[in-house]
Amino acid sequence: MKIDGHTHTHFCPHGSGEETAKFIEKAIELGFDRYVLTEHAPLPRSFSEALPYEKELVQYFTMEETELDDYIKEMHMLKQKYKDQIEIRVGFELDYLPEYIDWTRNLLREYQGYIEETVLSVHFLKGVGGWRCIDHTPEELKENIVLHYGDFQSVQKVYYETVKEAILQFQPSRIGHLSLCQKFQHYIQGRTSVTEETEKEIQGILLLLKQKDIALDFNTAGFDKKYCLEPYPSEWIVRKAQELGIPLVFGSDAHAVKEVGRHYNRYESIFGF
Ligand SMILES: [Zn+2]
Ligand SMILES: [Zn+2]
Repeated sequence: MKIDGHTHTHFCPHGSGEETAKFIEKAIELGFDRYVLTEHAPLPRSFSEALPYEKELVQYFTMEETELDDYIKEMHMLKQKYKDQIEIRVGFELDYLPEYIDWTRNLLREYQGYIEETVLSVHFLKGVGGWRCIDHTPEELKENIVLHYGDFQSVQKVYYETVKEAILQFQPSRIGHLSLCQKFQHYIQGRTSVTEETEKEIQGILLLLKQKDIALDFNTAGFDKKYCLEPYPSEWIVRKAQELGIPLVFGSDAHAVKEVGRHYNRYESIFGF
């Protein structure tokens, strides 16, 4: 079965703004059997307001809470409209925010029955002046996160510890872009490989995923990021996950129609189809 399990829609403020129907039509054209709509769920208002960023930038992260009902309604309409050509599943990409676990649980409860899949991701870590987005810009990562922890390897450690916490708290369908902390790896000076300790932490994460029957997003967006040039998770993690029999679900993380299904061939070659 050919699946694109991580995609964005016209509800994404940092996406291309193209109609979601066009994304779906592209997926049909590319021969996908299943297409999962995983728009960024809104961030809690008090979290957004406390972020050390300009308001305009914060608005660019996710849709507003007031748009949620329209998102659900429109996506379910599209699911119906294209049901003879492709199986569409409606979902969210959820941020793991350690201080908003109840808020997130309530959101999931509220939309239970409408949300068919969830991708749980860590995009925020504590840094200079509060919570910082780890995948925004290389300069931001370096100045406001790496310098805060001292070095990149310490950031990796905190990142994976946070991912582990997320998995202990929630039961998502998948963990999004597990090695997102590597997005700007070629921009960072110094060592960018994980320490032995972090490698053990990642091994622990994989065992936990196996135990809880949670899959991994095999996210090909990283191939196109000039400071990343690899998938998320990194290939060595993919190999370990495979050894444990953890499913890896292809995800293009498309924010524009032209990105739907990107690098599916690389996913196939890694998995030897
Ligand atoms: Zn996005
Ligand atoms: Zn993401």
